[in-house]
Amino acid sequence: MPFDRYNRDIDYLRISLTDACNLRCVYCMPEDMTFRPRQELLTDDEHRRLITLFGQLGFRKIRFTGGEPTLRPGLVGLVRHAVNTPGITTVGLTTNGVLLDQLAQPLRDAGLQTVNISIDSLDSGKFRHLTRWGNLRDVMAGLDAAARAGLRIKLNAVVCRSVNDRDDVVALARLTLTNAWQVRFIEQMPFGNNAEFQKRGMVGEGELIGVLTRTFGPLELINGGQLDGEARLYRLPGAAGVLGFVSPVSQPFCAGCNRMRLTADGVLRLCLLRDSEVDLRPLLRGGADDSAVAAAIRRAVAEKPWGHGLEQHLIPITRGMSEIGG
Ligand code: SAM
Repeated sequence: MPFDRYNRDIDYLRISLTDACNLRCVYCMPEDMTFRPRQELLTDDEHRRLITLFGQLGFRKIRFTGGEPTLRPGLVGLVRHAVNTPGITTVGLTTNGVLLDQLAQPLRDAGLQTVNISIDSLDSGKFRHLTRWGNLRDVMAGLDAAARAGLRIKLNAVVCRSVNDRDDVVALARLTLTNAWQVRFIEQMPFGNNAEFQKRGMVGEGELIGVLTRTFGPLELINGGQLDGEARLYRLPGAAGVLGFVSPVSQPFCAGCNRMRLTADGVLRLCLLRDSEVDLRPLLRGGADDSAVAAAIRRAVAEKPWGHGLEQHLIPITRGMSEIGG
């Protein structure tokens, strides 16, 4: 079973299917970002092989991400494979929602259970500003389609100082009054060249709770503050849904980290915010048998760092968020 050297049960794999994206969120990547050539990305067959192996090794949860995973033509088939993989009990998707209008039902039919849709503002002008290229209407259509298809819905908003840290947070939180969704506010994390911009823009959980409390009254803390995945949950008075705060900067949750990340080019990233990696692609393309690939995965799990080093001002530099998948 995948226990690391700190006795954490590492059973959650996040798979980035492509580093490419159809948006250019200001806190995620530069507008002129270039992407990896197709031949560097793992093929669908290579993904299927790895998913099967991870299931055999004791991983229970898989989330597909990107870049933008809906740009990957084989997404529905890969979701179906993951859902049918022995050992895997939960399969999710993180998407910007732009293409979800057409894909939500096929994904649901393939067995997808949950979808996290990134939406930083309900104001179309601010949404465009934050995503550079996005049209809020597309995402709202995707969100409707996901709800109609019966997918469990979480909304992800990255909060940026002086952009969407007041009215937008309130408007997003208000969605939970009538919808049984989890609306999550994510602290901006620093990566490489963009780190200074991201650090300046970061708005912490405490400040956001203050903003929401002033509008809605005291929030109800759920589960005594015990994290649900990476989110601390609260409920607005009388709400159908919940609020989640994902606060890796102000309240790191490394002690409970159960994840590994597979980048689109086949590298296992051992911690989102550290550059330690184990490259599986040479094994996959060099004829290694399953036991050799499984041994490399076990070694990677064993080498997982304790946690990020943001408090010591250690910033990851080799890849940005869009190249890892969040
Ligand atoms: N394209 C998909 C999406 O938009 O959800 C999946 C990939 S995206 C990298 C995954 C999540 O990371 C999104 O919710 C995005 O807003 C978030 N994100 C991107 N850069 C971030 C940063 N610097 N700090 C915190 N979250 C970030």
